[in-house]
Amino acid sequence: MTVQDCLQILRDVKDAAFATVDEDGLPQVRIIDVMLVEDQKLYFCTARGKDFYRELMSGGHTAVTAMNRAYQMVRLRGTVRQLEEQKEWIDRIFRENPSMEGVYPGDSRYILEPFCMEEGQVEFFDLGKTPIERENFVLGGGKESPKGFEITEDCIGCGTCREICPQQCIREGTPYAIRQEHCLHCGLCFEKCPVQAVRKRGS
Ligand code: SF4
Ligand code: SF4
Repeated sequence: MTVQDCLQILRDVKDAAFATVDEDGLPQVRIIDVMLVEDQKLYFCTARGKDFYRELMSGGHTAVTAMNRAYQMVRLRGTVRQLEEQKEWIDRIFRENPSMEGVYPGDSRYILEPFCMEEGQVEFFDLGKTPIERENFVLGGGKESPKGFEITEDCIGCGTCREICPQQCIREGTPYAIRQEHCLHCGLCFEKCPVQAVRKRGS
């Protein structure tokens, strides 16, 4: 799996959920078409009259997620950039997504503004496998942000976490260790460890 593979899943699903924060600080989400992915960049557009456009312009960020029929989910969050050469990009988007002509016929298409995501974090999560699989990537110059849990040197090797883990993804050792690529991030090991040897990553 690569960043481009993850973006391609979003493009293949096409109708993805895009989230922003509104002027009251509240979450907003809507379905937006992923119009194009290439060179580890994701392209989409929206009309200048929409709240989504205003929220993108004021916040400069979005988070995107979609799941395909194989239960493979991709999450992407990062900064967005409004593209210059608006007409050229909108024309290209319409060439690659011909159904757009039915929604915005003729020159009405130029009420749309093109955006690109090229920096952020990407998360791949495959629920179609047992155990589940996950992988994290950095998009462009984005920063890594580790999630989930890890076991520290305080582990006394009691084995409780290994017994209760729903994905059986903790291996014995000194200390015990979580196989991060199979972890659900459910937190059960964190709650049940008798000596608080499990800690949240990135905190
Ligand atoms: S429950 Fe805690 S002490 Fe016991 S093996 Fe797991 S991490 Fe180590
Ligand atoms: S967070 Fe959940 S899935 Fe991950 S290691 Fe702990 S118990 Fe297992």
